[in-house]
Amino acid sequence: MNQPALKQNERELIKLIRFFSKRAGQLMQTGELSAEHSQLTEACQNLETQLYNHANNRSAILDKRERLENIIDDNAACPKCTKADMLKRTGSTTTEHGWKINTYKCRRCNTSFTWNKPNNPWHMVEFLEMYIAELQQSLLTEENAELRKHVEAAIVQLNDSLNRLRPVLEISNEEVVALHQKEQEMDKLIHQFKNYLQIEKIKINNHYEYPDSAQE
Ligand SMILES: [Zn+2]
Repeated sequence: MNQPALKQNERELIKLIRFFSKRAGQLMQTGELSAEHSQLTEACQNLETQLYNHANNRSAILDKRERLENIIDDNAACPKCTKADMLKRTGSTTTEHGWKINTYKCRRCNTSFTWNKPNNPWHMVEFLEMYIAELQQSLLTEENAELRKHVEAAIVQLNDSLNRLRPVLEISNEEVVALHQKEQEMDKLIHQFKNYLQIEKIKINNHYEYPDSAQE
């Protein structure tokens, strides 16, 4: 399995844990491993497992989030030549509604333009909600039966898309909030355990430098 990306504080803790594991191994060989030492080693191993589980979970959630962020495919075409083959995405901008949309340049016509739909599913939901409301509004005055049928069918289809999209986004949003909370808990735990191990490490170093002082 691939190792997940670790944050700085996680890497530092793993380094300390490795130090104590190595030391426990040495003590075991010389028969000096006390109950206290083996308890510490076990706590270290537990925390290491917990830390890697958390890091794996984090990278899975963030990967999923990234895929979701890129789920919208503009299928953009140049407004001038109506072709797409010479288009280059140049960036993105924010609309008056606060939606992010992509900007393009057609190298054939040397035209720059902004696309007419948001570039991410969260803003796309708001865009579709507004579009559906506009279609419903148009039904109030539309008298042509054929057109009415067409618009009604479009509304059903758009609502269908929305109903499929909303729960996916909701789950991802909840996952990100829960991850953030877990991240804070882990940071606190890592901080505490790191402090504890650092003090233990100083004690060991002092013990080897001044073995007699530890005899009292
Ligand atoms: Zn063009």
